[in-house]
Amino acid sequence: MCSAEQASGSLGAMALPAFHLDHAGLKAWLQEKNEGRLQTLWSEADRVRKARVGDAVHLRGLIEVSSHCIRHCLYCGLRGPSQELVRYRMEADEILASAQEAFRLGYGSVVLQAGEDRGLSKEFIAGVVRAIKRDTPLAVTLSLGERDDDDLREWKAAGADRYLLRFETSDPALYKRIHPSLPGVPSDRFAQLHRMRTMGYEIGTGVMVGIPGQTWDTLAADILRFREFDMDMIGVGPFLPSPRTPLGGPDISTFLAPPKEQVPNDELTTLKAVALTRLVCPDANIPSTTALATLDRAQGRELGLMRGANVVMPNVTPVEYRVRYEIYPGKACVNETAAACQGCLEGRIHSLGRKIGKGPGGRYSNAV
Ligand code: SAM
Ligand code: SF4
Repeated sequence: MCSAEQASGSLGAMALPAFHLDHAGLKAWLQEKNEGRLQTLWSEADRVRKARVGDAVHLRGLIEVSSHCIRHCLYCGLRGPSQELVRYRMEADEILASAQEAFRLGYGSVVLQAGEDRGLSKEFIAGVVRAIKRDTPLAVTLSLGERDDDDLREWKAAGADRYLLRFETSDPALYKRIHPSLPGVPSDRFAQLHRMRTMGYEIGTGVMVGIPGQTWDTLAADILRFREFDMDMIGVGPFLPSPRTPLGGPDISTFLAPPKEQVPNDELTTLKAVALTRLVCPDANIPSTTALATLDRAQGRELGLMRGANVVMPNVTPVEYRVRYEIYPGKACVNETAAACQGCLEGRIHSLGRKIGKGPGGRYSNAV
């Protein structure tokens, strides 16, 4: 369980009075600058990670199945109005081949991710999920944006196991500003997360750190929402500006919160958010994100894993498509083949004294 009692209970006999994981405590930790106190946070997050989800690092093969998107999110390079982007949509046999590659490389699951693309029909995705389930033992996670319940039910029936949908921010006004609704259809990602849980999906969510307009209070509230929702998977990565977007363009200052309140999109703040997420949701699956690895190519991945994360999502999309899935520029590992990526990641994971997770790595089968 990802509950208040469990979170403080997980600190056990070593609990330090400093770990008040309420709103004020989280906000103070997010702004903490003292090196010694931060070391305490890092050790505690790593200790809780080891005690609750073990040393295994689960690898999820990421397949970026389409870069088409009908939305106008102000932060994302794939947004519909990015006209200069050369869009693609993978064929079913290409997606299946990428999943088979993930299986061959020893990964336990795949994540099919895309822009919100109505060209990915209910029937198409259901067929792809069925084929992956028929030909491999992989767990299948979908991350296809906001979709009708009818689609979501059909995909669950086809064998999909999990769904990732970041709520992006718990501040309704900020959400409305950065994630405009489609005409006549109010966007409510919390409601979709609730519905998907009742359909039997494991659900994953997350936020970006340092999105313009995000205050310390907002980020503390986001982390409390993870706990309140008892999320199975939680992705927390830095916001990386894309010049194709309003939040990465010359007008960015008009979106920022006052300087003392605006959360920076830097590595240290992201790592604090990852560590605190581990403390409030001790048994969730938490990835060390590609965005963090992009911000710090030398050791971002490792630092995420050392500060509470237990999942990595290596890219298995064919390279010719991957370079066109440009959420933000300069994405880490974008030109590496899946096999090269695997070799590099295994080396990094072993160098930390950790091991590669076996099997699907679901929330309730983690300590493998
Ligand atoms: N379209 C689906 C959706 O929105 O849920 C899945 C794909 S979307 C690209 C996946 C995630 O990328 C988003 O939930 C968002 O948090 C993250 N993202 C988008 N733009 C980003 C940026 N500029 N920097 C960092 N992360 C970003
Ligand atoms: Fe589309 Fe997702 Fe990007 Fe929003 S975040 S523009 S829904 S791909």
